[in-house]
Amino acid sequence: DSGAKTAPSPPPSPKLPKAKIDVLKAYGESSEKDHVNFVVVGHVDAGKSTLMGRILYDTGAVDERTLQKFRKEAEQIGKGSFALAWVLDQTHEERSRGVTVDVAVNKFETEKTVFTILDAPGHKDFVPNMIAGAARADFAILVIDASTGAFEAGFHLRGQTKEHTLLIRSMGVHRVIVAVNKLDSVGWDGARFEEIKQQMAQFLSNAGFNEKDIAFVPCSGLEGINVIKKPEEGVIPWYTGPTLLEELDITTKYARPVDKPLRLTVSDIFKGGAQNQPTVYGRIDSGYLQEGDVLLSVPNKEQVTVKSIVINDEPRPWAVAGHNVNLQISGFDELHLRAGDLLCHPTSPLQPLKCFQLKLLAFETLTPMAVDIHRGHLHAPGRISGLLQTYDKSNGTVTKKKPRHVAAGNLASVMVELVAGAAIPVEAGMKIVLRSNGQTVAAGIIEK
Ligand code: GDP
Repeated sequence: DSGAKTAPSPPPSPKLPKAKIDVLKAYGESSEKDHVNFVVVGHVDAGKSTLMGRILYDTGAVDERTLQKFRKEAEQIGKGSFALAWVLDQTHEERSRGVTVDVAVNKFETEKTVFTILDAPGHKDFVPNMIAGAARADFAILVIDASTGAFEAGFHLRGQTKEHTLLIRSMGVHRVIVAVNKLDSVGWDGARFEEIKQQMAQFLSNAGFNEKDIAFVPCSGLEGINVIKKPEEGVIPWYTGPTLLEELDITTKYARPVDKPLRLTVSDIFKGGAQNQPTVYGRIDSGYLQEGDVLLSVPNKEQVTVKSIVINDEPRPWAVAGHNVNLQISGFDELHLRAGDLLCHPTSPLQPLKCFQLKLLAFETLTPMAVDIHRGHLHAPGRISGLLQTYDKSNGTVTKKKPRHVAAGNLASVMVELVAGAAIPVEAGMKIVLRSNGQTVAAGIIEK
């Protein structure tokens, strides 16, 4: 008997301050893979979930056994083709179990890059989720259903293709990869691909995307053709470009504001890990942090100590802008920290705002009116208190000062106020969405 049951627990180890690391230097010298986040948008049933499931499966992020399990379950309810779509499921409960469960996967890797799929598509209340995702995305995959009539349905008649595209653009997403999907259903018709490409290129350019930031890839998520695996000879004779994964991996260096003050947006708080420690999950929008740092939460001004940092299930001594991190923290009152809060260093705290000037894209007609202000998981009631000016969409020049209203589809600067003098943790450069009666009415970036 080792006596372990009765032995007193060892005294807590003395709290020596950890040696501070020069994080910027360490980051500059590290050869770690680039961490890249993206959102998947497109009309319902375009094949978004299936395509992502295909990527996760073919890159080995999901194993054969798991997929077989889903296949069996899907076949039992007569929907065999849904198995791939089920691979992509990331829920709060699964994440709070601490480690990645084999079902809850939203990451995959290539030799150069770690990709994170933000906010799984397919949720019922998709737009708010997508907004939260778009605010953190480096680029977007726009999935188009190429089967007969489907592209047209998604594109016209208030289809979601347009709404989603405008939304991600106004949230500051610059690069879009258009997956022209389900081409198997039209016999890999090259003319169909060209037709969709032409129309989408025109639309994307009008929406403010630069030609060099748009790519088109023909594929079939369901059959796994030109997603990861190169098509067999003769299947797409009219296409010699990259596969979808190759296109994702094309060396785009995404600018990371690592030398700016720390801003970490909290998207989840849960108990996890071996010790069931309070853990914060979120993304570092700017700056960096390291183990042992004391951070300040906004708006409630709680001080928290970073006990450990975990990125992709691996402990790390530091993290920088662009990283999605799990922070084990101590020294805080759980009631005072919520999704939507920000963590910063006490030396460069964020000052919550009661009103701000927003440059936005209007989805509905805007007048001075009540709105819900959304930033990621944060939302608060407010109002558009003044319309400042509208802009020409093609060249950005001012078209009208003090307009009486802003018509849907127009760019404008407006003043937004919180209700009753409340303040929220936002500042210039952050992305905001305005909703009214459950509809997204505008999205844009805080100017000042
Ligand atoms: P989502 O709503 O955009 O996530 O779409 P899903 O991934 O759920 O797919 C919708 C339907 O399209 C399902 O019945 C899929 O099996 C089917 N589907 C998805 N991808 C393809 C594809 O590449 N080719 C064909 N023919 N059907 C597909």
